[in-house]
Amino acid sequence: MMKAIKELFTGFWSLLVGMKITLQQFFKPQVTVQYPHQSLKMPKRFRGHIMLVKDVITGKSVCIACKSCEKACPSDCIVVDGLKREGDKKKSVSDFMLDFTKCSLCGSCVEVCPVDALAFSRDYNLASTSKEQFYQIDLYKRVTEGQPQ
Ligand code: SF4
Ligand code: SF4
Repeated sequence: MMKAIKELFTGFWSLLVGMKITLQQFFKPQVTVQYPHQSLKMPKRFRGHIMLVKDVITGKSVCIACKSCEKACPSDCIVVDGLKREGDKKKSVSDFMLDFTKCSLCGSCVEVCPVDALAFSRDYNLASTSKEQFYQIDLYKRVTEGQPQ
């Protein structure tokens, strides 16, 4: 008899503790979203895939094709080529290839770039059924969309 009463009391106490936690959470601000219909905005420190940064005024990549990122990458992900176009004083990037399937997001390329031409994106929707989608071989073309080559 005593055992049954004790079990009843323990069960009721557990119910009260559970209800207390539920009520506490009920009034806290919601932190989850209906993914994939909604997405969270990633914080600045988030490391998405590496991307070329555009100049806000010209819309062109600021990369000077120095190849420092190519040399610094421990996984051989990056291949950069550049050329000096007619009328230009400096060399600029003509090809920028990045194989994201090999990238470990170590950040060496971002750190070594002398002109801050590389950055981590904040894109976390990186699932794909095709490996080819992670070869950013046309990244430069997208960055300079509309610009004569
Ligand atoms: S983050 Fe690291 S592994 Fe990825 S491309 Fe840059 S240097 Fe290479
Ligand atoms: S280190 Fe920067 S400027 Fe040099 S090739 Fe790489 S992205 Fe371009």
